[in-house]
Amino acid sequence: MKPEAYINREETFGAHNYHPLPVVLQRGEGVFVWDVEGKRYFDFLSGYSALSQGHCHPKIVEALTEQAGKLTLVSRAFYSDALGEYMAYMHAFFGYDKLLPVNTGTEAVETALKLCRRWGYQVKGIQPGRAKVVVCDGNFHGRTISVISMSSDPSAYAGFGPYTPGFIRIPYNDTAALGEALEDPDVAGFLVEPIQGEAGVVVPDEGYLRACYRLCRERHALFIADEIQTGIGRTGKLLACDYEDVRPDILILGKALSGGVTPVSAVLAGDEIMLTIAPGEHGSTYGGNPLAAKVAMAALEVVREENLSENAFRMGELFRQEIGKIDSPAIRQVRGKGLLNAVVTDPGKGKSAWDICLALKENGLIAKPTHDHIIRFTPPLVITGEQMREAIEVIRQTFGCL
Ligand code: PLP
Repeated sequence: MKPEAYINREETFGAHNYHPLPVVLQRGEGVFVWDVEGKRYFDFLSGYSALSQGHCHPKIVEALTEQAGKLTLVSRAFYSDALGEYMAYMHAFFGYDKLLPVNTGTEAVETALKLCRRWGYQVKGIQPGRAKVVVCDGNFHGRTISVISMSSDPSAYAGFGPYTPGFIRIPYNDTAALGEALEDPDVAGFLVEPIQGEAGVVVPDEGYLRACYRLCRERHALFIADEIQTGIGRTGKLLACDYEDVRPDILILGKALSGGVTPVSAVLAGDEIMLTIAPGEHGSTYGGNPLAAKVAMAALEVVREENLSENAFRMGELFRQEIGKIDSPAIRQVRGKGLLNAVVTDPGKGKSAWDICLALKENGLIAKPTHDHIIRFTPPLVITGEQMREAIEVIRQTFGCL
């Protein structure tokens, strides 16, 4: 079958809620993917940062296949030998009292919001039905109704109302605005991305997270970090909050928690927060299934054993340094941390970010625009120096030929 035939089939029988780059992938290994015609590409999207450990990492695949032949699902109606092991592992790895396991990132964000509201009522003493959560302009936390109710992006929320109430939106990277919002005694928490990924890799000022955390402490509100994209090594530390020695009250993880193998997301918190939800009050059929438990442990082992945070730090420095040297009128800015990077293009200089991504694809590297003029570059964290230099050369040549 020709690539066009695959594309037409998806377009014919699938909902049109995505606009994929016209490349049909068949196989992946490490930082590379191959299309149905056998052409190789550097994967510089990594499943929107989920494939940090690279495609089909043998250790993660082995954990998956071994468990798949034993026990895949018990639901939380029963205990399993794998889930407790995973929970204890997460406790040791991240230092939180408890884990609430879920599947997708947006589900984890919903869970964190419920925990925050519940804590607000039970612990902070907010009157029933009045709890509010402060969020930021430009946020991206997923696609469910409550989550898009927090969004400032019309393409995420428009036409899907009515919206969930109880959110206060403030500018990102603005501690004064947070201080003001926290004056409201009904605020239970502040939900923030340490770096705004979908917004175009927006890195806040140094000290922002620490200042926000301190304000939350002072005002008896929870500091909730959505590290679904930034976490697990992506930005050059295990957590992006580690750069500022901030330990979120609620930590939300997803994506790379499974190395792109199966949907695994997690909410971590202390007992005072987590135990406000009692049996029967929240759950998910697949959340914490034995496959997910084993895959997540393997995925985190890989991050630790292969020093992926450190590699992300080093490779990110190299990437920004080299891309910053490219002399092209189409490049306005290169920004990011670790291997969460973006090139801001100048749409006035001819080519759109989409066109540039098409050209990159022709040259053997796939990446995706976010908004019209920003290209995100988020390769797997296992990328070697040699591979990075080769990929940078592809980017350099592509910009050189625009
Ligand atoms: N939060 C952040 C910061 C994200 O980047 C994403 C996905 O891109 C989500 C939440 C939603 O995760 P999922 O797509 O797994 O629902």
